[in-house]
Amino acid sequence: MKDYQIDVQLSSTKKEKPAFNQLSFGTVFTDHMFVMDYTKGKGWHDARIIPYQPITLDPAAIIFHYGQTVFEGLKAYKTKEDEVVLFRPDENMKRLNRSNQRLCIPEIDEEFALFALKKLISIDKDWVPNVEGTSLYVRPFIFADEPYLGVSPSNTYKFMIILSPVGAYYKEGINPVKIAVESEFVRAVKGGTGNAKTAGNYAASLKAQEEAEAEGFSQVLWLDGREHKYIEEVGSMNVFFKIKGEVITPELNGSILEGITRKSVLELLHFWNIPVVERKISIDEIFQAYHASELEEAFGTGTAAVISPIGELSWQGEKIIINEAKTGELSKKIYDSLTSIQTGSVEDPFGWRVEVE
Ligand SMILES: *Cc1c(COP(=O)(O)O)cnc(C)c1O
Repeated sequence: MKDYQIDVQLSSTKKEKPAFNQLSFGTVFTDHMFVMDYTKGKGWHDARIIPYQPITLDPAAIIFHYGQTVFEGLKAYKTKEDEVVLFRPDENMKRLNRSNQRLCIPEIDEEFALFALKKLISIDKDWVPNVEGTSLYVRPFIFADEPYLGVSPSNTYKFMIILSPVGAYYKEGINPVKIAVESEFVRAVKGGTGNAKTAGNYAASLKAQEEAEAEGFSQVLWLDGREHKYIEEVGSMNVFFKIKGEVITPELNGSILEGITRKSVLELLHFWNIPVVERKISIDEIFQAYHASELEEAFGTGTAAVISPIGELSWQGEKIIINEAKTGELSKKIYDSLTSIQTGSVEDPFGWRVEVE
């Protein structure tokens, strides 16, 4: 690997660490952060690791007004041997650049970004929790910081990485959730920004999420924006169904975010010779399969929960219970396999695990 230049300024005081068995999600941050600037004509410059601190931005910064920003999310785990490992971080860097392209943000050097990320984690490695189910959540993000109220891509950007120790997603084991099929709002449409990891998609999803929560659901199932017919994602996760022994996930269509967990689940299923297809699947087909007693399992996939089984689906006044609202056999098998590879408790035949140092 190239010897990349990163200026390091260590924090003179260390924050008190939270109890690693009482962590929640995204509330506590480590001692340091990574920052790098972009200036048009000069490129990316001044890579540095500095004490975690607030940043000052001009009120006219483009990010506040027009949302020109992208982000990533991945996790670092501590193995039993006390090593710190990442799960497919190269995929996150590739996706960050795909998001950059869509948002007219200058691309980053993926290898350098991964180097910086590892260096930051190794400086804050005492923050990687070692309690079962916990991890260090890594949040790289880029935003437009030029003060300008005209609508055009910014001439300056900041690329930052922050770290947050997070608790077990499932406190009492992996648990099926209730989902409302969303028939009014849409998350994204083909031609929009649904396949980029950008703030606006999340802002657009809040209303539906809030209304579903008020009715006792934990997430919504998003349908396509043109016909309100085909399934896209569940909450901010990709979604899978098992019907008559075959696993089906919506094919990537421009409005679905290409999850790294989704990709890994597909690869695992192929490896196990379990029939799996990526294709269009309508909500009608799911309810029909249920009535024919052919719908066996349903689950969401994403970095935060890894696998989130769907126990109940509500649509047009009808409620269906999937697999008696219990975690399916395949869902459990995928969850166990992925988490053991991620945390280093088994061999990794795919080469997905990357050591931090
Ligand atoms: C990040 C994200 C996912 C999941 O991606 P992973 O790489 O598996 O974490 C799925 N859908 C949306 C909308 C996302 O933003």
